[in-house]
Amino acid sequence: MITASQLYDYVHCPHRVYLDAFGDPARRDEPNAFVQLLWDQGVDHEGQIVGTLGVTADISIVPFANRERETRLAIQRGEPLIYQGQITSGDRMGMPDLLERRGNSYIAGDIKSGSGLEGDDDDAKLKKHYAVQVAHYANILEQEGFGTDHEAFIIDRTGDRVPYLLDEPQGVRKPESWWDAYLDAETAVRSLLAQTNSTLPALSATCKLCQWYSFCKGALVARDDLTLIAELGRSKRDAMISAIPTVNAFAASNPQGFIQGKKTAFAGIGPDTLIKFHERAKLLTTPGATPYLKKPVQLPVAAKEVYFDIEADPMRDVIYLHGFVEREHGQPDTARFVPFFADGIDPIHEEAVFRDAWTYLTARAQDSVIYYYSKYERTAYRKLANKYPAVCDEAQVNDLFALPVMVDLYFDVVKPATEWPTYDQSIKTLAQFMGFQWRDTNPSGAASIEWYHRWVETGDPAIRQRILDYNEDDCLATGVVVDGVRTF
Ligand code: SF4
Repeated sequence: MITASQLYDYVHCPHRVYLDAFGDPARRDEPNAFVQLLWDQGVDHEGQIVGTLGVTADISIVPFANRERETRLAIQRGEPLIYQGQITSGDRMGMPDLLERRGNSYIAGDIKSGSGLEGDDDDAKLKKHYAVQVAHYANILEQEGFGTDHEAFIIDRTGDRVPYLLDEPQGVRKPESWWDAYLDAETAVRSLLAQTNSTLPALSATCKLCQWYSFCKGALVARDDLTLIAELGRSKRDAMISAIPTVNAFAASNPQGFIQGKKTAFAGIGPDTLIKFHERAKLLTTPGATPYLKKPVQLPVAAKEVYFDIEADPMRDVIYLHGFVEREHGQPDTARFVPFFADGIDPIHEEAVFRDAWTYLTARAQDSVIYYYSKYERTAYRKLANKYPAVCDEAQVNDLFALPVMVDLYFDVVKPATEWPTYDQSIKTLAQFMGFQWRDTNPSGAASIEWYHRWVETGDPAIRQRILDYNEDDCLATGVVVDGVRTF
């Protein structure tokens, strides 16, 4: 049977679908506490939302073996809103959260604890992993004569209904419809399950929350896979693999041999990108290789430096910690941690720490150079400004982050001007490469969200301190990378 979950997983990683069907379950990692939290939160959220919708047929209380039959009976009765039905057509099986009667037919919807769309407000679009799921339900309804439209909906984390019009193009540059994307995904999943096609693992950000991470990482290292090269993902690997099967083969090759004018032999990879990946392949395969500057870097200098990192809970949509480490220029032993931690999850708490952090940050911008890693802090501050206009407005946030003393260490320095012998360029990876160790044995943004949820539930000061220590170490790690770049 092809399920909506398999289609969802396929969009993130085809190999996940294959391993879930045919992999050895004993090779899975222990369940991840953050993934479990996501699951629990999703169940809670669904329970809260569904209570407001006016469900007329609740199939969730029916034993699994009888759900298909009860769903079909509910449809025959013309129930206006069916919850957690099950419906099958051929080799397709779907369990949509909602089946909603519209005239003489039904459309399906899912309740999600995430946002219904992705991207900024101006160019927000459907989420592909949601689209393939709800398209699967629409297809089953159509095949069984219960629906006629390629249309579905998502009830998002705020309870808003987001229409999923599946015959619409995926974007300006991607005229294929969401329905086309679904049909392609279904064909691929069917061939994976029939084992008429095979997949390879590919290292990506998705992997770190996947239960097959250790297994796949070992396989990738053993096969010297090209996706071990930072930013060289699945599609680029697949375009290159027949000509260049491994990192070592790539490092030993002459990349000019694959370049013709402004193009390379590989779809989607330009000459500059190929040269960049080749440099990274050489670094990865050179014992004792060290990072280096690709071009000169001028970091601003002031008497003080500040390293800045925030922690957010995407499930509660709250930013609960603004952490700063301040120190004298180039003197790590003078480092002092200045955290602003929300004492609760209510807007009044979030606004209070935003105000304190904004006051601190705007003052430090007068006498310090301020480093942060990637665009998240700026984006979050814009969002906070719109949420709490009594603190500041978006234009003030833009003005602050445009100051020369505000340095996005990743986009201003690491990405354009450095190369590293590492599998990725996250702050964790780079700082650890420079010898920095987090105090926590499991440092990650995802883990800290899970700790935060436990702190909200228990008020345990030890958990609060764990979150603070983790955030302080993130800030210190940013300083370690800055110090490292200065020595290159
Ligand atoms: S670890 Fe990565 S490559 Fe392996 S199945 Fe999971 S997402 Fe796919």
